[in-house]
Parts: sequence; structure tokens; C-alpha cells
Amino acid sequence: MQLNVDPDQVKGFLDPLEGERLYDLAQSAAQFGPCLEIGSYCGKSTLYIGAGVKASGGVLFALDHHRGSEEHQMGELYHDPELYDDTLGKMDSLPAFRRTLANAELEGHVIALITTSVLAGRYWQTPLSMVFIDGGHSMAAALNDYRIWSRHIKPGGYLAIHDIFPDPKDGGQAPYSIYQLAQASGQFETLPSTQTLGVLRRL
Ligand code: MG
Repeated sequence: MQLNVDPDQVKGFLDPLEGERLYDLAQSAAQFGPCLEIGSYCGKSTLYIGAGVKASGGVLFALDHHRGSEEHQMGELYHDPELYDDTLGKMDSLPAFRRTLANAELEGHVIALITTSVLAGRYWQTPLSMVFIDGGHSMAAALNDYRIWSRHIKPGGYLAIHDIFPDPKDGGQAPYSIYQLAQASGQFETLPSTQTLGVLRRL
């Protein structure tokens, strides 16, 4: 695995082992079509998935409105003042994201979609070889992401979901709920997980 940026230098919440798994999935999937991630933030997962698609000559759509999830807003647990635009009074992770892409030499392999999942999904028609869901962690946001994007995954393609916590004591339940929905849909087979990264393959 070739990364041009040290992942520790990029803000975000992704274990290196989860990153390596994303890299492997993306490298394999990208030969069969574009990959898409929801929730890029400062580009930590983009670093791994982008490097994977680059290794296969593929492309990654990186979807994020860059205004932060609920937990990133002013006064919330994961608010980061360095990612706040004082003039606008809004969160803005786009400059940090672009720096990551440039430093990682991924600008030729990553297409940023700076909008909401719902708005992009309304016009989306391209079949995808991999979808990585790591957007808003409210139940409404996770359900939207699952319903909008999972149906675009090609047969044989991957659905990866971050922050799977089967025990509610370990974390929020929205990602685990959509993981269970995918399992119950009959449209996916479950592959081994890597830490909190759940992985399924479209039948
Ligand atoms: Mg996450």
C-alpha cells in the first residue's frame, strides 16, 4: 500500500487497520467501476480509498457538504475550531480536504461532490463498484445514505459501513442499524469485518 501522506497527519476517525481494509476493497473494486464515499471530512478515508483506486487506475467520488455532522457543530463534542469559518459562522472541512488530496497526489483520481447525500442522490444514475458510508450518524442520515446509495452498487460490489457497534455501550446505533438492514435485505452477503468497519458484497 502506497500512501503519500501520513494518515496520522490528517484529522479524522479511522483506525489504520480499517484504512488498509478500505484500500484493499477499493483497489479490487475500482477495476469494475467508480467507488463512492459519503463523509470525507478532512480526507483520512479518502487517503486510503483514493490510493486504492489510483493503484487500479480508477476513480473515487468523495461526497461531503463539508459543513460537518451534528457532532462537529459549535458546542458539540467533536467541534474543531480549526475547521470553523468565522466569517460565515459555519464549519468548513473543504480546505483541509483539498490539502490532503493535493499532498497525497490524488487530485487526478478523486472527484469531490460538495453537497448533501440527498441532493446528489436525486440525480445519481451511475452504477458503483463500492460505497463507503461514514456520513452523519443520526438515524435519519444513516438511513438516507443507505437507501439512496446501496441500490447503485453493482452485483459483486462492496458496501462498507463505518462505526459498527453491536453493543450500544460502545457507540451510536445508526450505522449498525443500516448494516443489519443490508443483511436482512437479501441483497448482500456479509464479509468479515475489520474492527468497526462492516463489509458486505452485493449479490
Ligand atoms: Mg466514522
